[in-house]
Amino acid sequence: MSGAVEILRQPRPMQRWAEAARLRGERIALVPTMGYLHEGHLALMREGWRRASTLVVSLFVNPTQFGPNEDFGRYPRDFDRDLRLMEEADVSVVFAPEVESVYGSGFQSWVEVTKLTRGLCGARRPGHFRGVTTVVAKLFNIVKPHCALFGEKDYQQLRAIEQMVEDLNFDVEIVPVPTVREADGLALSSRNACLSPAEREQALALSRALFAARRLAGKGATLEAAINEAQAVLGAASGVRVEYLEAVDARTLEPARNLGAPVLLAVAAGVGKTRLIDNVVLAARPSAPSARA
Ligand code: AMP
Repeated sequence: MSGAVEILRQPRPMQRWAEAARLRGERIALVPTMGYLHEGHLALMREGWRRASTLVVSLFVNPTQFGPNEDFGRYPRDFDRDLRLMEEADVSVVFAPEVESVYGSGFQSWVEVTKLTRGLCGARRPGHFRGVTTVVAKLFNIVKPHCALFGEKDYQQLRAIEQMVEDLNFDVEIVPVPTVREADGLALSSRNACLSPAEREQALALSRALFAARRLAGKGATLEAAINEAQAVLGAASGVRVEYLEAVDARTLEPARNLGAPVLLAVAAGVGKTRLIDNVVLAARPSAPSARA
């Protein structure tokens, strides 16, 4: 089923809509996005429909999560195309505010998750997660969702939001959704649209490296061997500037030393002018003696 989507562009009307929906007894799911939608976003929307009676998608390229030398200006945007996809996904309301209605001229209140955002992307993109958690907190106050869907593709973001919800008592259920990939393994991302065909081919090294490590770990190899394997794949790839390849505890995001508990293997790399990220969770075979090595 699909139809015309209601578009709201200001926080107040969105809050009034949400309040009325709650009074009617609706259960609201929220999918926050920066637009330029793809199958990953659509998977979040489908999961939202499974868990709620009404679905709000926010579409907002949030300036506070971009650094001064990052790609805020170049970030791909196509509202009409997004709208068609959201109609097909039967979205109830699109919340697509202008920057000025989200950040007033006197804006000065921030939400920051400290420890979980120190490493990985947080170490390379100062202020990025502060921008993310602040805008998500605002979206929760504006859309008043019962549940909100986030992709494991942005794993550190997901963990930071889960922590924020716990620490600040947001009454919102956070639902993680597995990463959606192309048939050849490339994780879907709006930024893939910025890759030339040759760069897209080079970008495959990220998922190949992660899958190679996961395969080894699944066969009972040590974490060190799995990381070495991923490094070797990335090292042999051309056109890929590795920013980091790191193995961390999948819950705390602290450095991992072995596969005794689930490990997040995360990578960030530049391909052409585009920065890409990807990750997998490594788990040792339950019987593997290396699990406690
Ligand atoms: P973005 O528009 O890139 O800010 O992403 C909006 C939401 O979609 C975030 O929760 C992302 O983690 C999620 N997402 C992005 N790419 C994927 C993907 N390939 N698979 C699953 N979720 C994704």
